[in-house]
Amino acid sequence: MQTLTDNYNRVHDYLRISLTDKCNLNCIYCNPAKNHIKKLQQDEVLSYEELLRLISIFTGRLGVKKIRFTGGEPLVRKGIINFFQNVYLLKKQFGFTTGLTTNGTLLEEILPDLKELGLDKLNISMDSLNPVRFKYITGKDNLESVLRAVNKAIKLGFSPLKLNVVVMKNVNDDEIINFVDFIKDTNLNVRFIEFMPFGNNNWNQNEFIRFDEIKNIVESQYVLKEITGTKNLVAKDFAIEGHSGIVSFISSISNHFCSSCNRLRIDAESRMKLCLFSNRNNELKFKDILSNSDYSDEDICSMIEKSLHFKPIVHPEIDELLKLQENNMLSIGG
Ligand code: SAM
Repeated sequence: MQTLTDNYNRVHDYLRISLTDKCNLNCIYCNPAKNHIKKLQQDEVLSYEELLRLISIFTGRLGVKKIRFTGGEPLVRKGIINFFQNVYLLKKQFGFTTGLTTNGTLLEEILPDLKELGLDKLNISMDSLNPVRFKYITGKDNLESVLRAVNKAIKLGFSPLKLNVVVMKNVNDDEIINFVDFIKDTNLNVRFIEFMPFGNNNWNQNEFIRFDEIKNIVESQYVLKEITGTKNLVAKDFAIEGHSGIVSFISSISNHFCSSCNRLRIDAESRMKLCLFSNRNNELKFKDILSNSDYSDEDICSMIEKSLHFKPIVHPEIDELLKLQENNMLSIGG
């Protein structure tokens, strides 16, 4: 089996695939102008057949061990369960793990199916425990359905089960302790994520709160003990004294982790993103590649391997990130 290694000897065994650029929420940190971004047509996104071919190339030939599905909101895509059934067959053949990042609004009913299809890791995004604020952040009155999904996922034994919380100053930073309280007797891992700038998400310094400030707030009430020795390269994980839950901090901006980044992404437009913040130069566009019947799987493998050499060693600073108009989380999926 080959492995995907870049110029800096980083092995890339984690692929995140954005299944759609469509979302049923309009979060203020992601899509503040409510769908101002031009939506892709159906023939611009990878079909399920194309996605399955890519997954078998990445996992069967190139040593990728983890696949995560994201979006937009992955669960708004039609035929998703049937697609997951086919992914399950590949998973049994090639032995990779699967994960899903979802806003949880459409999750509750399909959780038993996902469990049966061997979904290994589930991340649910939920930025407030207060229904009024949840609506302010997301534009929709959906907190209750997300909470029901979280509780059902706990009952069904999903583990790891993570809650993603983007923390914004004067928006939801007063709920940090509430979230830690919320996970007290559960196996949940709450992950506080720094608000990241993109060219079109109205990022502003006044709403930014660094991970160490967030951590200080947690430590004003709780004793944290760093969990070391895990292979987690992205989040800093902590056990909480007296708690069964775990708290993590994702410091993409104030303390980036580029040097240990093992991630590759395919965005909804089928572009391979070597970094969440990379520009479009040197990106492979799989829609074009897969529709060319001259290319064999071996050809595609060598294109992917070559493209890895353009992986940046570090992502740009905030001023530069704000200029990246083409990048948006709706398409890349986080
Ligand atoms: N719709 C799914 C969801 O809500 O989880 C998947 C896509 S969403 C873009 C993936 C993750 O990116 C979510 O946890 C979301 O909170 C996070 N995210 C989006 N924009 C962000 C930003 N500007 N800064 C930090 N995290 C962001």
